[in-house]
Amino acid sequence: MNIHEYQAKQLLKSYGAPVANGAIVMNAAQAEAKAKELPGPLWVVKAQIHAGGRGKGHFKEEAAGEKGGVRLAKSAEEAAEQAKKMLGNTLVTIQTGEEGKEVGRVYVEDGADIDRELYLSVLVERTGKVAFIASTEGGMDIEAVAEETPEKIVSVPVEPSDGVTDAVADKVVSALKLEGTAAEDGRELVRTLYKAFTEKDMAMLEINPLIVMPDNHLRVLDAKVGFDPNAAFRHPDIEELRDESEEDPLELKANEFDLAYIKLDGTIGCMVNGAGLAMATMDIIKHYGAEPANFLDVGGGATKEKVTEAFKIITSDPGVEGILVNIFGGIMKCDVIAEGVLAAVEEVGLKVPLVVRLEGTNVEKGKAIIANSTLDVIPADDLEDAAEKIVKAVKG
Ligand code: GDP
Ligand code: MG
Repeated sequence: MNIHEYQAKQLLKSYGAPVANGAIVMNAAQAEAKAKELPGPLWVVKAQIHAGGRGKGHFKEEAAGEKGGVRLAKSAEEAAEQAKKMLGNTLVTIQTGEEGKEVGRVYVEDGADIDRELYLSVLVERTGKVAFIASTEGGMDIEAVAEETPEKIVSVPVEPSDGVTDAVADKVVSALKLEGTAAEDGRELVRTLYKAFTEKDMAMLEINPLIVMPDNHLRVLDAKVGFDPNAAFRHPDIEELRDESEEDPLELKANEFDLAYIKLDGTIGCMVNGAGLAMATMDIIKHYGAEPANFLDVGGGATKEKVTEAFKIITSDPGVEGILVNIFGGIMKCDVIAEGVLAAVEEVGLKVPLVVRLEGTNVEKGKAIIANSTLDVIPADDLEDAAEKIVKAVKG
């Protein structure tokens, strides 16, 4: 689960990170009033959407040449004007895709003067260790830095039993080339971020840019935070920060029924059980020349109702041109899957080809249920057969 920049900043500030003062506003009048409460003489007006690249983005409704979703203002009136241009309009950035995202909240912040823009993030490495990723090349697309000048990105892992040692803090600070007061700020920030990251069960924390100001102190200028959904039950305070308007409606629906659903860009909807089978299913679809539109994992012990909901979610994705149900019954019984699929099709109809491959517990019962129905289901014997059939059916 992700949260907005202003929420991430409030959270980091509560841990003691250097964050500017600011306020969230819903209209232009509020923007002016809130800007007046800040000292000035520089304000930053920032569109709050769950996507990066706002500064280099553009609003759909605006003429070319206008600025994106991060704008500087030299007076409270100007801040109000900028907020007005953003609110209710659709911001398109490199991360939103062409459809963009509507801006419902704007953050007005005390502006900073910038000497240097740095990059600092915290993530969980494949080894399971928390690591800091630091680079002097902040403020820009870090993927591009990784591609073109990978030597400018330094990774500093943290031993879980030791936490942030002096050595860890020093490594991060030297990777960022900080000196004097900025180095002191840096060492403290590393400890602060580690505490926030581990206590709140974050999955990702990215500060891009972290800036050095002319007074040689640091400030967190942008913040993106994502949380580990498996730990959500421990953090009701974080759950409250959820902004459902930022989330995929189908993913929300799946969440409600405790189904793991991931939206992708292809044409074949996949209903599977288990993450491993999901990966294998997507691989083999690609192998036969098509792309998955999504995958929906019904998990281990789903009921008929859950399977029905799962199928409804897949069919309501407009990108789906064909459906592959691929179930290996263990705890999950094939007849339950078959009944759920039939119930869903009865309810919502079937407008695209459907291939069903069942294997494992109660497979004969499951196959019989499908075979005895009047539905136009294409049965498959194994994974290869299933993938070949659905790709053929979709491609005509
Ligand atoms: P993003 O484009 O979504 O990543 O949004 P950021 O919050 O990172 O802002 C984009 C850029 O706007 C930053 O890299 C800065 O160059 C600039 N910016 C943001 N806040 C300030 C500020 O307080 N003062 C100045 N001078 N520039 C800022
Ligand atoms: Mg940024």
